Amino acid sequence: MDFEPNQEQRALAERAFELGSALNGGLAERVRAGRFDRDMWRRCGEFGLLGLSVPTADGGLDLDSLSTSLVIEAFAKGCQDLGLLFSACAHLFACAMPIAEHGGPELRTRLLPRLISGEWIAANAITEPEAGSDVHALRTTAIRDGADYVLNGVKSFVTNGPVADHILVYASTNPADGHFGLSAFVVDRHSPGLTVGPSFAKPGLATSPLSPIYLDDCRVPAANRLGAEGAGSTIFGSSMAWERTCLFAAYLGSMDRQLAQTIAHVRTRRQFRKPLSRQQAVAHRIADMKLRLESARLLLYRACTRRDRGMDSTLEVSLAKLAVSEASIQNALDAIQLHGATGFLSEGGVVDALGDALPSTIFSGTSEIHRDLIARGLGL
Ligand SMILES: Cc1cc2nc3c(=O)[nH]c(=O)nc-3n(C[C@H](O)[C@H](O)[C@H](O)COP(=O)(O)OP(=O)(O)OC[C@H]3O[C@@H](n4cnc5c(N)ncnc54)[C@H](O)[C@@H]3O)c2cc1C
Repeated sequence: MDFEPNQEQRALAERAFELGSALNGGLAERVRAGRFDRDMWRRCGEFGLLGLSVPTADGGLDLDSLSTSLVIEAFAKGCQDLGLLFSACAHLFACAMPIAEHGGPELRTRLLPRLISGEWIAANAITEPEAGSDVHALRTTAIRDGADYVLNGVKSFVTNGPVADHILVYASTNPADGHFGLSAFVVDRHSPGLTVGPSFAKPGLATSPLSPIYLDDCRVPAANRLGAEGAGSTIFGSSMAWERTCLFAAYLGSMDRQLAQTIAHVRTRRQFRKPLSRQQAVAHRIADMKLRLESARLLLYRACTRRDRGMDSTLEVSLAKLAVSEASIQNALDAIQLHGATGFLSEGGVVDALGDALPSTIFSGTSEIHRDLIARGLGL
């Protein structure tokens, strides 16, 4: 497989890098305040970032998985605000893509142009207090009542929840059918019966707000259902396939930036009358960081390419997700170690990358769940 970007991919990635770099202003203050920035969101929309993989007929750029990932990686290499990009990716892969792939023409026309332009923000809500890794244990119900469904339940961790205009909610329309009884609904933030809980404080992805949402006799028009009744699991599965590959390209970009910054530091910082880089233990740690980054990158590009060729990619996507997320934590730890005490200071941002990396082994399927999927892919 050849992963060398073509001229078009390279040009778009360069523009994404420039946009990402331009959005670093005021970052320390935004991170400290945990503030989501709507103006920056709109600039992402203007660029096309919020609709990279959405068909052009719906207002997107219609990129395949590899091209999408290359753009996201480049943006992250330029932009130190991984929270902004994480919010954008959750919006695109777990909300806009399901609407584009499974929504009817009316829903697509009503929602997608404004979601892609950056006017609106979307969130996706499946996780519940009793249904984390085991999503099929969810208890939120959607009961048909005339032209509506009535939704009741609690969703515990919703990225973009506090700022979202529309939330893709997964609920059971037929609890007896378990896996086949789930359906997906786009719920307007202002629907009576929908309440957004307060934002959680967290040590990473600071500018990406996360909250619970509560559904209490919340009426949703049946026209807002994606696909058929019972199609929820399939819709969720395809959104996760996008997210588990393309979203994790963000971590490749941030590891790349972190590696360059760490190399610059060990070259200039002198101890024992020579640069740190001349200590073999230091240079070997850098070599290991590079090895982790490059192997994770190859796995991710391969997973994307298989998806783009229509090949079965469940095993490859899990390998990529696991490799990128675990590499991002270990590389963040190594960067801190090599920066010494300055790496531990909030000022400078070295330690921020660890906070951003930590949840990556939890969302989009935990590392344990992906090891299970890999084992299953090997016939175990
Ligand atoms: C930053 C962030 C953003 C998120 N955004 C969203 C969002 O937008 N929408 C949404 O719906 N959810 C979101 N989530 C929730 C996320 O999807 C869940 O946290 C994830 O699915 C894990 O569920 P849990 O936290 O309940 O952990 P649990 O499922 O309780 O797992 C706890 C531990 O037990 C392990 N474990 C569980 N089952 C098994 C098993 N069968 N075998 C071995 N080990 C197992 C897990 O691997 C983990 O180590 C987000 C989470 C984070 C951290």
